[in-house]
Amino acid sequence: MSSPTRIGSVDIDTRVVQHLHAQDRAQDRSPVTRPAMDLPHLSLLLAQQLQTSLEADRILSLFFQNLQPYLNLDGLLYSHAVSDLQLHLGERTLAVASYSLSHEHESLGELVLHRRQPLDDAQHTELESLLSHLLYPLRNALLYRLAIQNAMRDPLTETGNRIAMEQTLSREAEASCRHRQPLSLLMLDIDHFKRINDTYGHYHGDQVLKRVAQTLKSQVRNVDRVFRYGGEEFVIILANTDRDTAALVGERLRQAVNDLDFSSLGSLRPSISLGCSTLLPAESTDSLLRRADSALYAAKREGRNRMMMAG
Ligand code: GH3
Ligand code: MG
Ligand code: MG
Repeated sequence: MSSPTRIGSVDIDTRVVQHLHAQDRAQDRSPVTRPAMDLPHLSLLLAQQLQTSLEADRILSLFFQNLQPYLNLDGLLYSHAVSDLQLHLGERTLAVASYSLSHEHESLGELVLHRRQPLDDAQHTELESLLSHLLYPLRNALLYRLAIQNAMRDPLTETGNRIAMEQTLSREAEASCRHRQPLSLLMLDIDHFKRINDTYGHYHGDQVLKRVAQTLKSQVRNVDRVFRYGGEEFVIILANTDRDTAALVGERLRQAVNDLDFSSLGSLRPSISLGCSTLLPAESTDSLLRRADSALYAAKREGRNRMMMAG
């Protein structure tokens, strides 16, 4: 039995199209309706349009919009694991072509095209020549996306940085108002961290920071919501979370850090203090952060390794 899907890989440098499965599509051929636009015209249009954006989603949408009437396509699926990007356009009917896009052995993602009827050989050849217009713009967009992602991350702890925290917080505060859902925030600080640095050196201090960050990420629903706010301070944004639930999450985090095995640090066992605030009606994000910060310092004053709720 023949499978209608053509699977190939398209390499940006050599423009080599490698077919992993050559299928016999001689049977069940439907009459091909050719659109008004011809291939050279469509190639030119794609070459021009795909250069107009640095957003991978936009580039793939433009690619699909232009190809869709020409090849009677129904849908496009794209995924790029490295940048956690997935896109689904149109309808999922029959997967008629699937490509692994790459550049110098670096993946540019997986592309699958859907159509009710299989493509014929001539259409496959045309599709592959049109795909070459997608590769460079897509590669640039993926590099841009990576640069933006890196600019938002703290490389030591692999959490979001302060810029990312501010953006996420303002987005979540808006969503919280719009959907009338609670929003809570935890601000936490490693206790007596300076002693760890002073006693064991910065290298060990860094290891403690990494492990604490890893523990926080493993304990919250969405790892993208953990941010390094400053040296040994972190913020966790808890969307759609009320005060009581936030208190439970905070206590779970405190306990998890307290339970970590840091036997190499002897008696200097790291712990965290936390402050928790929940967004009030019409409150600004600055005020939400300030209240969590005050609660954190109250937790420090009360003896550390504890959480305090903002008033
Ligand atoms: P407290 O319980 O009151 O929070 O005491 P603390 O010692 O944790 O607080 P303090 O603010 O006195 O010291 C924080 C230390 O964190 C000082 C700074 O050198 C250290 N620090 C900040 N960023 C880093 C980092 O990236 N790596 C390492 N190893 N240390 C850092
Ligand atoms: Mg500290
Ligand atoms: Mg501090």
